[in-house]
Amino acid sequence: MKLLEGKNAIITGATRGIGKAIALCFAENGANVAFTYRSSGSAAEEIEKELSAFGVKAKGYQSDAGDFEAAQELVKTVIEDFGSVDVLVNNAGITQDNLLMRMSEEQFDAVIQTNLKSVFNLTKAVCRPMLRGGGSIINLTSIVGMKGQAGQSNYAASKAGIIGFTKSVADELGSRAVRCNAIAPGFIETDMTDVLPEETRAKYLEQIPMKRLGKAEEVAQAALFLASDLSTYVSGQTLSVCGALNR
Ligand code: NAP
Repeated sequence: MKLLEGKNAIITGATRGIGKAIALCFAENGANVAFTYRSSGSAAEEIEKELSAFGVKAKGYQSDAGDFEAAQELVKTVIEDFGSVDVLVNNAGITQDNLLMRMSEEQFDAVIQTNLKSVFNLTKAVCRPMLRGGGSIINLTSIVGMKGQAGQSNYAASKAGIIGFTKSVADELGSRAVRCNAIAPGFIETDMTDVLPEETRAKYLEQIPMKRLGKAEEVAQAALFLASDLSTYVSGQTLSVCGALNR
């Protein structure tokens, strides 16, 4: 029996990077996958095919995770399409880096809306359906949310907020067998980190004890653990996947 056999998962922002790796890992392990994206429609069609090849049900939905009404509508539609939701991965995230002196209100708000408000939107939408049979909620934070980072005060604030939110939800829903955990990746090779200047990458590499960037698949393995019954007594935790950068 596969680790996620028969479970239905929603993953936000899964057209590339970490979200896509989690979707593939979940499908390979038997989960039916509903995933979202904001703009990458053609990539979503390809991913639906890749996921379905594992013999599971898979469907992509265009839905802005930062939009409260859209998130409620999405969960309603997914439950109509899939029957239930057992796992939620709040993965959608963006960066809009700038030093505080130059950061605009729009840059701050956009990052909070997509990274933090989205976690509230989706978690609130799945709460009631999950109370019926239990569930696992997994939120993508970052080691930047723990230690801060010059040029990323908006991103760090959004990711630190996710950690507090995760612990509170674990507290509120624990007695109903709904678990809530966070994953804090370090520096992972995706489009998000591809845009960083060479100088910044070199600086990071120097600080990482494992002397390499992480792979999206390595974050997905942590999500698999937290989604599955291998972690039935793990809740309210933040699991760093960072090559020992944060310790
Ligand atoms: P990525 O490669 O930039 O991919 C982001 C994904 O999120 C895309 O599929 C994108 O779809 C989707 N997305 C963005 N805004 C959205 C919205 N409002 N609604 C729905 N989907 C949206 O990012 P990544 O590097 O894989 O990062 C994934 C998560 O891990 C993020 O939360 C990020 O903060 C976190 N993280 C990443 C790293 C890293 O080193 N890469 C480190 C720590 C934490 P569209 O293209 O359609 O918008």
